[in-house]
Amino acid sequence: MAIIKNIDKQKIINLLKEHPEYTLADVGRMEGISRERVRVIAGDIPGACRHTHLPRLCKNCGKLLRPYRPHKGLNYSSHREGFCADCWEKEKQRRKEERFKRTNQGFVCEICGKEFWRRNSAVKQAFDRGARVRFCSNKCYGRFRLSKSRPGR
Ligand SMILES: [Zn+2]
Ligand SMILES: [Zn+2]
Repeated sequence: MAIIKNIDKQKIINLLKEHPEYTLADVGRMEGISRERVRVIAGDIPGACRHTHLPRLCKNCGKLLRPYRPHKGLNYSSHREGFCADCWEKEKQRRKEERFKRTNQGFVCEICGKEFWRRNSAVKQAFDRGARVRFCSNKCYGRFRLSKSRPGR
C-alpha cells in the first residue's frame, strides 16, 4: 500500500480561513504537506484559495504590487525593493541625485556667477596643489587672468 498521509482537509481549510496571513506554504509546513497540496485542497472550497504570497504594497504610494512578471511594468529591482513601477523610477532618480551630491561639490563661478559641480577627487587634487575651485570653465579662468593682467580694463 502506498504511503498516503491522511490529510485532514477540513483542518487545512479552517486554518486558511481563520488565518488570512498564512501562506499556502505556511499551512503546508504546519501539516507536513507540500504547498501544492494545500493549494489543491484550498481550491475545493471557494474563498479558501489565495495567493502564495502575502500581497505586497508599494513602500511609497501603497499601491498593490503584482507578483514579479518581467515585461509587465514591474522589473526585478523594483520588485525586490518593494516599489511600484512609477515610484521605482522616482526612487532611482532620487538615489542617483543623492549619489551625485555625495561625490560632488557645488561651487559658484567667480566670473560668470554660474553654479557648477566638481567631483570630490578633483576638488581634493586642486586643494593638494594649494588651489581652490573658483571658475566654472577655462573660459572663465581666462577672463579672470585677463582682468588681472590688464588692471583698469
Ligand atoms: Zn508606488
Ligand atoms: Zn564661469
